[in-house]
Amino acid sequence: MSAAAEDVGRRLVAVRERIAAAGGDPARVRVVAVTKGQPPEVVAAAVEHGLVDLGESYAQELVHKAAALGEGVRWHFVGRLQRNKVKVAAPHVHLWQSIDRQPLAAEVARRAPGARVLVQVNVAGAAQQGGCPPDDVPTLVAAAQELGLVVDGLMAIGPQGPDGEVRAAFRVVRDLADRLGLPERSMGMSGDLEQAVAEGATMVRVGTALFGPRRQTGGVGK
Ligand SMILES: *Cc1c(COP(=O)(O)O)cnc(C)c1O
Repeated sequence: MSAAAEDVGRRLVAVRERIAAAGGDPARVRVVAVTKGQPPEVVAAAVEHGLVDLGESYAQELVHKAAALGEGVRWHFVGRLQRNKVKVAAPHVHLWQSIDRQPLAAEVARRAPGARVLVQVNVAGAAQQGGCPPDDVPTLVAAAQELGLVVDGLMAIGPQGPDGEVRAAFRVVRDLADRLGLPERSMGMSGDLEQAVAEGATMVRVGTALFGPRRQTGGVGK
């Protein structure tokens, strides 16, 4: 096994320990390995460790990596998504995690009929992160379902702040998902996965805690 793969292996053990320490069942909280900014050998290392759910924030980067890796992985689109990028990503995406407005849902439904999606909820109040205001989520979920999309659940990026504030934000997501009868809650990243797991995350999206610092950026933004 390569050095890169050994590093990822060690870090994955640590991430699973953190999930367990936060009260989560590591066998049931799905780890989506966010590979943005990481070179292909690192992505291959994740797959060697059985991390088959991979997340990308940039359509072009996702398409390149999907071509390099081939079958056997599930790509999650987790970043802000422009409507004109849906077409190029559509053949590769297993779960669209950042649906936050009706026109975007409509474009996904057009390019990938019946696709699985999560509606992204803006619980941090940070506009640049995208997400639908919590009050508008029920309407957007209904609209996406009307378009024939399968809404598996909700996704959110936690706020920066003290523990209690972060947990309260994740609780908003969990309560909304419960109310709407949606099973999946994608919340928690490298820095706040404990709070997310404690509030019932079913999926955590982890980049730097698995791979170390990002080496290249696939586009503007984080
Ligand atoms: C980059 C990113 C992540 C992973 O962030 P880390 O802090 O590296 O774990 C998770 N979710 C989204 C939406 C991201 O853009």
